[in-house]
Amino acid sequence: MRFDALLSIPRLAKRLTPERGRASHPSSFPDERDHTEMKIVIDADKCEGHSRCYSLAPDLVDVDDLGNAFVLGDGTVPDGLEDKARLIVDNCPEYAISIEED
Ligand code: SF4
Repeated sequence: MRFDALLSIPRLAKRLTPERGRASHPSSFPDERDHTEMKIVIDADKCEGHSRCYSLAPDLVDVDDLGNAFVLGDGTVPDGLEDKARLIVDNCPEYAISIEED
């Protein structure tokens, strides 16, 4: 039986059509456009050095000798730590931490 003959069978056509295959298995074909990069930004002028953020997320921020916070690296939040990033934003009493998403 020829391939195009198989496509005349509705049930098989749904399974064999490439678009249909992608739609039915989205986890097998991750869409790059769905991935947004999250970055933490700390406003040094607002930071009062409580170190609260560091105690909650030492894998995202560090503090200097005076307790003032700074981001690790360029502030990019590794996959899986997004909730921690939001946690320190919500818990900074000076509203010194914000999140930028691309
Ligand atoms: S919780 Fe806020 S004010 Fe306190 S150290 Fe962290 S960024 Fe600074």
